Amino acid sequence: MTKPIYLDYHATTPVDPRVLEAMLPYFTERFGNPASRQHSYGWDAQKGVDTARAQVAALIGAVPGEIVFTSGASESNNLAIKGVASCLRDKGDHLITVATEHKSVLDTFKKLGQEGWRVTFLPVDREGFVDLDALRAAITERTVLVSAMTANNEIGTVQPLGEIGAITSERGVLFHTDAAQAAGKVPIDVHAMNVDLLSLTGHKYYGPKGAGALFIRRRKPRIELTCQIDGGGHENGFRSGTLNVPGIVGLGAAAEICRTGLDTERQKLGALRDRLLSLLQSGIDNVHVNGPLGERRLSHNLHVSFPGVDGERLLMAIGDLAVSTGSACSSGSGAASHVLEAIGATSIPGASIRFGVGRMTTEQEIDTAAARVVKVVQSLGSKAVTA
Ligand SMILES: *Cc1c(COP(=O)(O)O)cnc(C)c1O
Repeated sequence: MTKPIYLDYHATTPVDPRVLEAMLPYFTERFGNPASRQHSYGWDAQKGVDTARAQVAALIGAVPGEIVFTSGASESNNLAIKGVASCLRDKGDHLITVATEHKSVLDTFKKLGQEGWRVTFLPVDREGFVDLDALRAAITERTVLVSAMTANNEIGTVQPLGEIGAITSERGVLFHTDAAQAAGKVPIDVHAMNVDLLSLTGHKYYGPKGAGALFIRRRKPRIELTCQIDGGGHENGFRSGTLNVPGIVGLGAAAEICRTGLDTERQKLGALRDRLLSLLQSGIDNVHVNGPLGERRLSHNLHVSFPGVDGERLLMAIGDLAVSTGSACSSGSGAASHVLEAIGATSIPGASIRFGVGRMTTEQEIDTAAARVVKVVQSLGSKAVTA
C-alpha cells in the first residue's frame, strides 16, 4: 500500500533533515543540562540554546533576550494571555480577541471569562479579516490585551499586524499574536509591527514537535507577565523546567532555514498552490475559495468548498489524500468549523477541504491529488464540467 499524499502542512510538517542533523548530537554526546554552570557539559548545551535563541529572535525581528522557550504554541498562548491577565488584573477587566482564533486562544479567553474578565470576540469579514473599526470601538480604558492571530490555520488569512499594532500601541493596550502558522512563512518584524507578545511552534515550520517559543517584548514597553509554571526560575523566571535542548536546537535551526529561504519558498509554494487551484477549477464547475486570494493569504494554503457535494462521501472517497476536511454542510453529520461559520461560509451546504502544501510537496503530487479530487467530486454528482 502506498502512503497517502501529504497535503496537510497546517496540521504539522516533517522535520527538515538539516534540522534533524543539528539536533542529533544534543541527544547523545552533548546531553548536558544548560542549568549546570559548573562544567563543560552544561556550557556546551547552553551554547546550543544560545544559538537557537538568536536564530528564533532573528526570524521575527526580536533580540535573543526577548525569547522564552516553551513546549509549543498552545503553551505560549496560555502563558501570554493568562500571564498578562493575572499580572494586569489591577489595571483593567477587559480582553479582546477574534472569533477565528485557534482553540488554544479561544478556550483560554473563555476560561478567563468564567473567572470574571469581560471578553470581546471580534467578528471578521467574509475573507476572515478582523474589522479594524470594530477593534478601535471595542477598546476601552479597562482593556489590557488584544490577541489576534498572524495567519489563520484553516483559511490562510494573514491579518494586518502592523495596522492592529498601530491601534493597540496608540491606545496603550498590549498586543499578542499567535504566529504558529505564519512564523517562517511570512515576514514578521515584531518591533516595526508593535507586537508585544508572539507565539510560535517548531512543528509547523519543519522543526520538532514539543518545542516552541514566546516572544516577550523587553523594551518600549517592557512587558511583565505572571509565569504559569513555577519552579527553578528558568527562562528569566518566565517558564520553569529543564530546557528541551535538542528540541530548542531544532527550533532554532528550522528558524534559520526558513528565514534565509523565506521569499524563495513562499514563491515556490504559491506556484504549487495556484496549480492545484487551477486544476480543480478546470475540472469542477463550482469551486468556492474560502479566505482571500493574493498577497494577504498564506501562499501554501488553499481552502475550497464544493457546493452541493456531500462531505461525508467526499471524505470517504479521498482516503488516499492526507488533507483536512471540514464540512460546511448543514445536512451532513460533520460539525461546521468555527472559522467557516465566522466568515459566513456555512450558509451554502457542501463539502470543504483544506489543502496545505509544503517544502516536500512535488508537482507530481499536486497533479495526482487534483485529478483525484476532480474525479471524486464529479462522481458525487455536483455540477461538474463535462469535457
Ligand atoms: C498548531 C497551532 C497551534 C498549536 O501549536 P502546538 O505547538 O501544537 O501547541 C496554535 N495556534 C495555531 C494557529 C496553530 O496552527
